[in-house]
Amino acid sequence: MPFIDLKEQYQALKPQIQQRINTVLEHGQYIMGPEVKELEEQLQGFSGAKHCITVASGTEALLIALMALDIGPGDEVITTAFTFAATAEVIVLVGATPVFVDVEADTGNIDISKVEGAITPRTKAIMPVSLYGQVADMDELNALAARHGNLPVIEDAAQSFGAEYHGRKSCNLSTFGCTSFFPSKPLGCYGDGGAIFTNDDALAKACREIRVHGQERRYVHTRVGVGGRMDTLQCAVVLAKLERFEWEVAQRLAIGQRYNELVDVAGIRRVSQRAGRTSVFAQYSVFVRDRAAVQQALLEQGVPTAVHYPIPVNEQPAYKNKSVTGHTPVAQALASEVMSLPMSPNLDEATLQRIVAVLAQTQSAALAA
Ligand SMILES: *Cc1c(COP(=O)(O)O)cnc(C)c1O
Repeated sequence: MPFIDLKEQYQALKPQIQQRINTVLEHGQYIMGPEVKELEEQLQGFSGAKHCITVASGTEALLIALMALDIGPGDEVITTAFTFAATAEVIVLVGATPVFVDVEADTGNIDISKVEGAITPRTKAIMPVSLYGQVADMDELNALAARHGNLPVIEDAAQSFGAEYHGRKSCNLSTFGCTSFFPSKPLGCYGDGGAIFTNDDALAKACREIRVHGQERRYVHTRVGVGGRMDTLQCAVVLAKLERFEWEVAQRLAIGQRYNELVDVAGIRRVSQRAGRTSVFAQYSVFVRDRAAVQQALLEQGVPTAVHYPIPVNEQPAYKNKSVTGHTPVAQALASEVMSLPMSPNLDEATLQRIVAVLAQTQSAALAA
């Protein structure tokens, strides 16, 4: 059993994917070809956001969003201590300082009650992460940001494209939503890709220009930008995959909920799901004791696992001295206990039962030892 089954999806969509790729090979517009605009329009429709700007990766999406907001040296950006390094990386890359806030013990998302205390006159944005595919407390964050001089809120939605929050789509919940089409994300391409979403016309224009070296018109560079476009071929792959994406989202939700039932019966602690939010379960994560032994035992039974993430980002060597951070005990505890189980839109009931049975067995063995 694979940790993420990308082959089944390819087999199911093979004719569409091949046809889409062939079309690009025939027209030959590999950079900014017609599929780029077509995908942006479809993603606008899907998310409800007024603007979608496809970019080279999820990391690039976050970087360009910060650049569009003119965030730089002397500025602080509040973010979560428990995320993939890219979230913090882009803040440091623009010359600003990440301010790390601890997370909720049961969801791993940023702890809203700790955000206000981290705001200073230098704060220029708040960057929550919709971890494992479940949106953070966006209404509360937006309200807090509004009370503090309309601070922009950037949702790192790399794991949550397709998720919903009180009937609205992830990526369309704040100033910016940034997602990733890395192959293993809920909506993946066959390489690197990403997208920025916003309802603000001026910010959208800035992002479009920054994406192509700050060009307002050809060879007129009005700002410093990056080479941040998403290839036409990768856009073509996402277009083909969109055909069954809504089905996949429904499957992920149903499988995640079934996992929850089985894991609860087995008495294992897991990531909580908040009311009014539907996760896309980019990862299905539980909390275990003696994780290394549990992972090894699962692997021996043919069940691969992964850890998202073993070290809080504020404790990583690269960020320790480049950030403002207090003690983040919750992030630390999660980092030592969290473990992700296989997740794909086609996992069947028998497989789920087997995974959880092996998990329960190995966890009780670890506890008894
Ligand atoms: C994957 C991921 C990113 C980066 O996306 P890439 O497309 O790999 O650059 C950023 N933030 C989070 C939370 C992610 O999971």
